[in-house]
Amino acid sequence: MPKSAYKIDRLRESADLVGQTLGQVARYIEPGVTTRQLDRIAEAFIRARGAEPAFKGYRVGNLVFPGTLCASVNDTVVHGIPNDIPLREGDLLSVDCGVRLNGYYGDSAYTFPVGEISAEKRALCEATYGALHEGIARASAGRRVGDISYAVQQHCESRGYGVVEELVGHGIGRKLHEKPNVPNVGVPGTGPRLARGMTLCIEPMITLGTARTKVDADGWAVRAADGQAAAHYEHMVAVQPDRAEVLSTFSYIEAVPGAALDSLPAYKIYEPEQGIGVM
Ligand code: MG
Ligand code: MG
Repeated sequence: MPKSAYKIDRLRESADLVGQTLGQVARYIEPGVTTRQLDRIAEAFIRARGAEPAFKGYRVGNLVFPGTLCASVNDTVVHGIPNDIPLREGDLLSVDCGVRLNGYYGDSAYTFPVGEISAEKRALCEATYGALHEGIARASAGRRVGDISYAVQQHCESRGYGVVEELVGHGIGRKLHEKPNVPNVGVPGTGPRLARGMTLCIEPMITLGTARTKVDADGWAVRAADGQAAAHYEHMVAVQPDRAEVLSTFSYIEAVPGAALDSLPAYKIYEPEQGIGVM
Protein backbone atom coordinates (compact mmCIF):
# COMPACT_ATOMS: atom_id res chain seq x y z
CA MET A 1 0.00 0.00 0.00
CA PRO A 2 1.25 3.52 -0.74
CA LYS A 3 2.64 5.31 2.30
CA SER A 4 2.58 8.92 3.44
CA ALA A 5 5.67 11.12 3.44
CA TYR A 6 5.68 10.80 7.23
CA LYS A 7 5.80 7.01 7.08
CA ILE A 8 8.45 7.03 4.37
CA ASP A 9 10.57 9.30 6.58
CA ARG A 10 10.25 6.76 9.41
CA LEU A 11 11.14 3.87 7.08
CA ARG A 12 14.17 5.83 5.85
CA GLU A 13 15.35 6.13 9.45
CA SER A 14 14.91 2.40 9.99
CA ALA A 15 16.69 1.63 6.72
CA ASP A 16 19.55 3.94 7.68
CA LEU A 17 19.97 2.15 11.01
CA VAL A 18 20.26 -1.15 9.14
CA GLY A 19 22.93 0.45 6.94
CA GLN A 20 24.81 1.69 10.00
CA THR A 21 24.60 -1.78 11.56
CA LEU A 22 25.97 -3.43 8.43
CA GLY A 23 28.76 -0.84 8.45
CA GLN A 24 29.56 -1.70 12.07
CA VAL A 25 29.59 -5.44 11.27
CA ALA A 26 31.82 -4.76 8.25
CA ARG A 27 34.58 -3.46 10.51
CA TYR A 28 34.99 -6.90 12.08
CA ILE A 29 34.73 -9.23 9.07
CA GLU A 30 38.02 -11.09 8.60
CA PRO A 31 39.33 -14.65 8.68
CA GLY A 32 38.99 -16.18 12.16
CA VAL A 33 35.95 -14.18 13.22
CA THR A 34 32.72 -16.11 13.82
CA THR A 35 29.28 -15.10 12.65
CA ARG A 36 28.08 -15.38 16.27
CA GLN A 37 30.57 -12.65 17.21
CA LEU A 38 29.24 -10.49 14.37
CA ASP A 39 25.70 -11.19 15.53
CA ARG A 40 26.43 -9.97 19.07
CA ILE A 41 28.02 -6.80 17.70
CA ALA A 42 24.95 -6.13 15.56
CA GLU A 43 22.45 -6.76 18.35
CA ALA A 44 24.26 -4.48 20.81
CA PHE A 45 24.55 -1.75 18.16
CA ILE A 46 20.82 -1.88 17.33
CA ARG A 47 19.62 -1.94 20.94
CA ALA A 48 21.94 0.93 21.89
CA ARG A 49 20.03 3.05 19.37
CA GLY A 50 16.64 2.30 20.85
CA ALA A 51 15.64 -0.22 18.21
CA GLU A 52 15.04 -3.97 18.18
CA PRO A 53 16.46 -6.66 15.92
CA ALA A 54 13.64 -7.65 13.54
CA PHE A 55 14.77 -11.19 12.81
CA LYS A 56 15.51 -12.36 16.37
CA GLY A 57 12.46 -14.28 17.52
CA TYR A 58 10.91 -14.24 14.03
CA ARG A 59 8.56 -17.21 13.76
CA VAL A 60 7.69 -19.47 10.87
CA GLY A 61 5.38 -22.16 12.19
CA ASN A 62 7.15 -23.74 15.16
CA LEU A 63 10.55 -22.38 14.16
CA VAL A 64 11.99 -19.32 15.88
CA PHE A 65 14.98 -17.53 14.33
CA PRO A 66 17.65 -17.07 17.03
CA GLY A 67 19.89 -14.41 15.46
CA THR A 68 19.91 -10.66 14.90
CA LEU A 69 21.62 -11.29 11.57
CA CYS A 70 21.11 -13.86 8.90
CA ALA A 71 24.73 -14.84 8.23
CA SER A 72 24.98 -17.00 5.11
CA VAL A 73 28.39 -18.36 4.12
CA ASN A 74 29.35 -19.59 0.62
CA ASP A 75 26.65 -22.01 -0.59
CA THR A 76 24.11 -20.74 1.95
CA VAL A 77 21.86 -18.38 0.03
CA VAL A 78 19.93 -16.83 2.93
CA HIS A 79 18.71 -17.39 6.52
CA GLY A 80 21.97 -18.79 7.88
CA ILE A 81 21.93 -18.93 11.69
CA PRO A 82 25.01 -17.25 13.21
CA ASN A 83 27.38 -19.91 14.59
CA ASP A 84 30.85 -20.55 16.03
CA ILE A 85 32.59 -21.58 12.82
CA PRO A 86 35.44 -19.14 12.08
CA LEU A 87 35.26 -17.37 8.72
CA ARG A 88 38.02 -18.37 6.33
CA GLU A 89 39.98 -16.44 3.73
CA GLY A 90 38.06 -16.63 0.46
CA ASP A 91 34.61 -17.09 1.98
CA LEU A 92 31.61 -15.16 0.76
CA LEU A 93 29.48 -13.88 3.64
CA SER A 94 25.97 -12.60 2.99
CA VAL A 95 24.68 -10.57 5.93
CA ASP A 96 20.98 -9.73 6.07
CA CYS A 97 19.85 -7.39 8.84
CA GLY A 98 16.45 -6.17 9.98
CA VAL A 99 15.45 -3.65 12.63
CA ARG A 100 12.28 -2.21 14.11
CA LEU A 101 12.61 1.44 15.07
CA ASN A 102 9.63 3.53 16.25
CA GLY A 103 7.33 0.82 14.94
CA TYR A 104 8.77 0.77 11.41
CA TYR A 105 10.93 -1.93 9.89
CA GLY A 106 14.21 -1.71 8.02
CA ASP A 107 15.67 -4.61 6.01
CA SER A 108 18.82 -4.70 3.87
CA ALA A 109 21.52 -7.19 2.93
CA TYR A 110 25.07 -7.18 1.55
CA THR A 111 27.45 -9.93 0.44
CA PHE A 112 30.95 -9.40 1.81
CA PRO A 113 34.24 -10.90 0.66
CA VAL A 114 36.30 -12.43 3.48
CA GLY A 115 39.83 -11.47 2.50
CA GLU A 116 40.63 -12.26 -1.14
CA ILE A 117 37.89 -14.14 -2.97
CA SER A 118 38.03 -16.09 -6.24
CA ALA A 119 37.32 -14.41 -9.58
CA GLU A 120 34.28 -16.66 -9.86
CA LYS A 121 32.77 -15.43 -6.59
CA ARG A 122 33.64 -11.85 -7.43
CA ALA A 123 31.80 -12.05 -10.76
CA LEU A 124 28.79 -13.58 -9.00
CA CYS A 125 28.66 -10.63 -6.60
CA GLU A 126 29.00 -8.14 -9.44
CA ALA A 127 26.10 -9.74 -11.31
CA THR A 128 23.89 -9.90 -8.21
CA TYR A 129 24.61 -6.29 -7.30
CA GLY A 130 23.97 -5.30 -10.90
CA ALA A 131 20.66 -7.15 -10.88
CA LEU A 132 19.60 -5.31 -7.73
CA HIS A 133 20.15 -1.98 -9.46
CA GLU A 134 18.51 -3.10 -12.69
CA GLY A 135 15.48 -3.95 -10.56
CA ILE A 136 15.59 -0.64 -8.71
CA ALA A 137 15.74 1.21 -12.04
CA ARG A 138 12.32 -0.22 -12.91
CA ALA A 139 10.60 0.48 -9.60
CA SER A 140 8.81 3.69 -10.66
CA ALA A 141 5.11 4.49 -10.45
CA GLY A 142 2.96 3.03 -13.21
CA ARG A 143 5.21 0.08 -13.89
CA ARG A 144 4.49 -3.46 -12.70
CA VAL A 145 6.24 -5.73 -10.23
CA GLY A 146 6.96 -8.08 -13.15
CA ASP A 147 9.15 -5.37 -14.71
CA ILE A 148 11.44 -5.51 -11.67
CA SER A 149 11.40 -9.31 -11.60
CA TYR A 150 12.19 -9.64 -15.28
CA ALA A 151 15.09 -7.19 -15.09
CA VAL A 152 16.68 -9.12 -12.22
CA GLN A 153 16.16 -12.47 -13.93
CA GLN A 154 17.51 -11.34 -17.29
CA HIS A 155 20.59 -9.70 -15.82
CA CYS A 156 21.60 -12.90 -14.03
CA GLU A 157 20.44 -15.65 -16.37
CA SER A 158 22.08 -13.98 -19.38
CA ARG A 159 25.35 -14.30 -17.46
CA GLY A 160 24.74 -17.98 -16.69
CA TYR A 161 23.76 -17.63 -13.03
CA GLY A 162 20.89 -19.29 -11.18
CA VAL A 163 18.00 -17.19 -9.88
CA VAL A 164 16.44 -18.65 -6.74
CA GLU A 165 12.68 -18.60 -7.25
CA GLU A 166 11.26 -19.78 -3.95
CA LEU A 167 12.47 -16.70 -2.07
CA VAL A 168 11.18 -13.22 -2.92
CA GLY A 169 11.39 -9.55 -2.07
CA HIS A 170 8.43 -7.87 -0.41
CA GLY A 171 6.64 -4.77 0.71
CA ILE A 172 7.75 -3.32 4.07
CA GLY A 173 6.30 -0.92 6.63
CA ARG A 174 4.88 -1.51 10.08
CA LYS A 175 5.27 -5.17 9.21
CA LEU A 176 8.52 -6.77 8.03
CA HIS A 177 6.81 -8.52 5.14
CA GLU A 178 3.91 -6.76 3.44
CA LYS A 179 2.31 -7.09 0.03
CA PRO A 180 3.26 -7.21 -2.74
CA ASN A 181 5.76 -10.02 -3.15
CA VAL A 182 8.64 -8.97 -5.41
CA PRO A 183 9.87 -12.14 -7.14
CA ASN A 184 13.23 -12.32 -8.89
CA VAL A 185 11.75 -14.02 -11.94
CA GLY A 186 8.78 -12.72 -13.90
CA VAL A 187 7.20 -11.35 -17.02
CA PRO A 188 7.30 -7.63 -17.88
CA GLY A 189 3.96 -5.82 -17.76
CA THR A 190 2.46 -8.33 -15.33
CA GLY A 191 1.87 -8.34 -11.58
CA PRO A 192 0.74 -5.59 -9.22
CA ARG A 193 1.00 -2.03 -10.53
CA LEU A 194 3.53 0.15 -8.71
CA ALA A 195 2.12 3.28 -7.10
CA ARG A 196 3.85 6.33 -5.69
CA GLY A 197 4.68 5.81 -2.01
CA MET A 198 4.86 2.02 -2.09
CA THR A 199 7.87 0.78 -0.13
CA LEU A 200 9.56 -2.39 -1.33
CA CYS A 201 12.52 -4.60 -0.55
CA ILE A 202 14.22 -5.69 -3.77
CA GLU A 203 16.58 -8.58 -3.11
CA PRO A 204 18.06 -10.83 -5.78
CA MET A 205 19.33 -14.17 -4.43
CA ILE A 206 21.65 -15.57 -7.07
CA THR A 207 23.73 -18.74 -7.40
CA LEU A 208 26.88 -19.68 -9.26
CA GLY A 209 25.38 -22.99 -10.35
CA THR A 210 21.94 -24.47 -9.95
CA ALA A 211 19.04 -22.33 -8.75
CA ARG A 212 17.64 -25.31 -6.89
CA THR A 213 17.95 -25.14 -3.13
CA LYS A 214 17.70 -27.34 -0.04
CA VAL A 215 17.02 -26.38 3.56
CA ASP A 216 19.35 -27.40 6.42
CA ALA A 217 18.17 -29.62 9.27
CA ASP A 218 17.84 -26.47 11.42
CA GLY A 219 14.86 -25.52 9.24
CA TRP A 220 16.32 -22.11 8.30
CA ALA A 221 19.49 -22.07 6.20
CA VAL A 222 18.69 -22.24 2.48
CA ARG A 223 21.59 -23.68 0.49
CA ALA A 224 22.31 -24.07 -3.20
CA ALA A 225 21.54 -27.74 -3.93
CA ASP A 226 24.87 -28.21 -5.72
CA GLY A 227 26.99 -26.65 -2.97
CA GLN A 228 28.20 -23.75 -5.11
CA ALA A 229 28.35 -20.15 -3.88
CA ALA A 230 25.46 -17.71 -3.68
CA ALA A 231 25.11 -13.93 -3.27
CA HIS A 232 22.37 -11.63 -1.93
CA TYR A 233 22.05 -7.84 -2.02
CA GLU A 234 18.93 -6.08 -0.74
CA HIS A 235 17.80 -2.46 -0.77
CA MET A 236 14.62 -0.82 0.50
CA VAL A 237 13.09 1.61 -1.97
CA ALA A 238 10.14 4.00 -2.11
CA VAL A 239 8.34 4.15 -5.44
CA GLN A 240 8.26 7.69 -6.87
CA PRO A 241 6.72 8.99 -10.11
CA ASP A 242 9.84 8.77 -12.28
CA ARG A 243 12.21 6.66 -10.22
CA ALA A 244 12.73 4.65 -7.08
CA GLU A 245 14.20 6.41 -4.09
CA VAL A 246 16.66 4.10 -2.33
CA LEU A 247 15.91 4.30 1.40
CA SER A 248 18.66 1.95 2.61
CA THR A 249 22.34 2.57 2.04
CA PHE A 250 25.62 0.71 1.66
CA SER A 251 27.58 3.93 2.31
CA TYR A 252 28.52 2.90 5.86
CA ILE A 253 29.96 -0.36 4.51
CA GLU A 254 31.82 1.47 1.76
CA ALA A 255 33.36 3.79 4.37
CA VAL A 256 35.13 0.84 6.03
CA PRO A 257 38.51 0.29 4.35
CA GLY A 258 38.60 -3.03 2.50
CA ALA A 259 35.08 -4.11 3.53
CA ALA A 260 33.12 -3.51 0.34
CA LEU A 261 33.85 -5.44 -2.81
CA ASP A 262 35.87 -2.90 -4.81
CA SER A 263 34.79 -4.11 -8.25
CA LEU A 264 31.02 -3.69 -7.95
CA PRO A 265 29.60 -1.89 -10.97
CA ALA A 266 28.77 1.82 -10.61
CA TYR A 267 25.07 2.68 -10.57
CA LYS A 268 23.44 6.02 -10.06
CA ILE A 269 21.71 6.02 -6.68
CA TYR A 270 19.08 8.61 -5.94
CA GLU A 271 19.97 9.85 -2.52
CA PRO A 272 17.33 9.95 0.17
CA GLU A 273 15.43 13.21 0.34
CA GLN A 274 13.12 14.53 2.96
CA GLY A 275 9.43 14.90 2.54
CA ILE A 276 8.53 13.03 -0.60
CA GLY A 277 5.80 10.45 -0.74
CA VAL A 278 2.04 10.70 -0.81
CA MET A 279 -0.32 12.40 1.61
MG1 MG B 1 16.57 -8.94 4.33
MG1 MG C 1 13.82 -8.66 2.84
